[in-house]
Amino acid sequence: MSYKYLFGPVPSRRLGLSLGVDLLPAKTCTENCVYCECGKTTRLTRKRREWVPTGAVCAEIERRLKEPPAPEWLTFAGSGEPTLHRDMGRILSRAKAAAPGLRMALLTNGSLMDDPEVREECRGFDLVAVSVDAAGKEAFRRVNRPHPGLDLARMLHGIEEFRRVFKGVLWAEVFLVPGENDSEEELFRIREALSRIRPDEVQINTLDRPGTETWVTRPTAETLARAAEILGARIIGRARGRSEGAGPVADPEGLVLAAARRRPLTAGDAARMLGISGKEAEGLFAGLLARGLVTAGESPRGRFFRPAGESPEDGGA
Ligand code: SF4
Repeated sequence: MSYKYLFGPVPSRRLGLSLGVDLLPAKTCTENCVYCECGKTTRLTRKRREWVPTGAVCAEIERRLKEPPAPEWLTFAGSGEPTLHRDMGRILSRAKAAAPGLRMALLTNGSLMDDPEVREECRGFDLVAVSVDAAGKEAFRRVNRPHPGLDLARMLHGIEEFRRVFKGVLWAEVFLVPGENDSEEELFRIREALSRIRPDEVQINTLDRPGTETWVTRPTAETLARAAEILGARIIGRARGRSEGAGPVADPEGLVLAAARRRPLTAGDAARMLGISGKEAEGLFAGLLARGLVTAGESPRGRFFRPAGESPEDGGA
């Protein structure tokens, strides 16, 4: 069974096996981050609207949650900023009714948290991971390349307000881009902002797969360690794989293509996602390549596959 608005379960670096809910057409966001793994933002907007049909998303969630295997998390993330969908709160409520007890997560850049309605909708999640890549205007402009209508101070204040009322777990994520937001000055500014937000955990993220801009690199081990010390942060590692005993995946090619449409994948990623060996995953991609369904590109972290006809600029997650 294929899905248009769901992808995975994919091995997430932070949440284990997570079923993704994608509320945006690629690539719709309030920002155009240099490191974004979904490609360049082609629709830079702050407008909340029904970007994809609410009823169709809910129907897919309800259908998928009746099928095994059950995911560990339902994660709202994908081809842009999920809070841009004006019915995010309604979709979350329907998902909770369909699977009481399933944990729900939101990955957000926090840019719309100055809106009380957005904060109210976000309160329904068990876990919210919010990006705080910069606390200085220059670093914000360079790293996140925001919509001109976004105001960093209001955004950060909105996240603080959210923390005050949110009873779930709040993670703050700092994506380190060497040369852009890793100076001591900026790191101390971010630390100050984080001290006001009071997240349950601060995490440092770094490039794991090709970013939007090819000049973005991973920081050195020394820079990472120093940043982790200043921010009191945990450094995010690689994703773990599919649980043992999760059973075979019914449509491995379909699952891999849906995930690659959101973020480019290596054979190792696919192996972890499907619970198969690296050699089997390479064989799967060789078959997709031979049929012209994917293209391959080299990067320092290995060979990444994308659905054919989608360049890095086309976007995806
Ligand atoms: S990283 Fe997130 S916030 Fe930045 S452009 Fe990509 S989807 Fe938008």
